[in-house]
Amino acid sequence: MPSTLEQMWSRTLKKIEQSHYFNDQDFKAWISKTTLFRIENNIAYIAYRSSITKAIMEQQLSLFESTLSEELPEPVKIRLVEQKEMEQMLPEVAVQQKTNTLLANKFNPTYTFENFIEGNSNQEAYAACFAACNAVSFPAFNPLMLYGNSGLGKTHLLHAVGNYLAAERPEKKVIYMYSGDFVSLLIEAMRSKSIHGNTVDQVKQQLLDCDYFLIDDIQNLQNSASQEVFFTVYNQLIQKNSQIIITSDIHPHELNNLQNRLVSRFSSGLAINISKPGFETSKAILKKKLEGREDIICDDVLDYLALTFSNDVRNLEGRLNQLIFQSTLFNPEIIDMKFAMEHLGKEPVKEKRSELSIREIKKAVTQFYGLSYADVEGKSRLKPIMNARHICVYLSREMLQKPYTQIGKDLGNRDHTTIQSSYNRACELIKKDAAFRQAIDQIKEKLI
Ligand code: ADP
Ligand code: MG
Repeated sequence: MPSTLEQMWSRTLKKIEQSHYFNDQDFKAWISKTTLFRIENNIAYIAYRSSITKAIMEQQLSLFESTLSEELPEPVKIRLVEQKEMEQMLPEVAVQQKTNTLLANKFNPTYTFENFIEGNSNQEAYAACFAACNAVSFPAFNPLMLYGNSGLGKTHLLHAVGNYLAAERPEKKVIYMYSGDFVSLLIEAMRSKSIHGNTVDQVKQQLLDCDYFLIDDIQNLQNSASQEVFFTVYNQLIQKNSQIIITSDIHPHELNNLQNRLVSRFSSGLAINISKPGFETSKAILKKKLEGREDIICDDVLDYLALTFSNDVRNLEGRLNQLIFQSTLFNPEIIDMKFAMEHLGKEPVKEKRSELSIREIKKAVTQFYGLSYADVEGKSRLKPIMNARHICVYLSREMLQKPYTQIGKDLGNRDHTTIQSSYNRACELIKKDAAFRQAIDQIKEKLI
């Protein structure tokens, strides 16, 4: 089999490296990044990215020429061409290189099924992805679509599919693409098509050669010229029973321009929502992230983070990282609530916070429990009323960082020590009373 240009150049470079004409650093940094992209009329065209590479190679050009000539029936001369110029000369090569890079799936090794915490909010999506990996003859549902707000684990699951298949079913060919990359690849291919004819078809062929096609954040395909190519690939893959898994940040019915063509085909597929994780799942995610370092942080702080930031797991993890980072600067004995409030409080935690007031919190809490303002402001010691009061205090503190005195004033003129013990009681209940936690969760959702 004749060698490809790539193989010839790689052997040439290996010989030159071994000859030690160049020091190792120069070789790795400059020379190894060149490509041989064409041989015509005994001229070999070599593309370089930096003028430093050109300067280094020009000094020993005859060495490169003679070494490369050993690979060929006739001696060649070398012409050095800047990468950009090469892309103009051979746009299909540039597209090809880009396609190859995109298709060389680099799955994030930490995004695995094992590291994904399951809960009510994402169980179905997890199970469907896992099942899709293990389907024996043909996909049970095709396409499989996961949709939900940003930061809830869609990309994590796609990578988990990639990692799992690479380990357990290496014979399966998997293509993962972020839709933005798909669009830019196709735009480039279309541009070069006008000169060279078949670049788009080549890309299409490469995309069709797979058992699993994972496309992330499909909403970016809306209104894009590459939609046509996508649908050709999509239809052919469905026909040949390759499993397609799509994610979207928005509901399938809101994918306006894609809807008819994509969503109507969902009758053969399955669309699954991922929603925000509940308290227990969020806490388990934080613990997973800590992996054995749980003693650096108080459990209350994890409860607080899980209650406050579970709308977006990326943000939830970010807040934990922020606290860990701050603790390396300030060296507290342990990250406790005081430390957390000092260090998280510096940032605007909720966008809508300025509009929120103790009165609104009281309103949401009383509506939730079916009580009146007079009930929570009064002296009743009935459990649901006490709980409602504790939640008012807790949320006024956590969401608004109001002083105890001010909260006391708005809650039937109670003094600050009463409010402080109410706050402490709420923290205790959060730990041991699931119904109380759930109530806080639901009330907060109304307030955000
Ligand atoms: P999306 O693609 O939905 O915007 P990502 O998959 O990028 O979200 O998730 C954001 C971050 O949250 C990632 O670091 C991911 O590992 C983490 N994450 C989300 N959900 C979970 C989960 N259930 N278990 C563990 N980590 C999660
Ligand atoms: Mg994502």
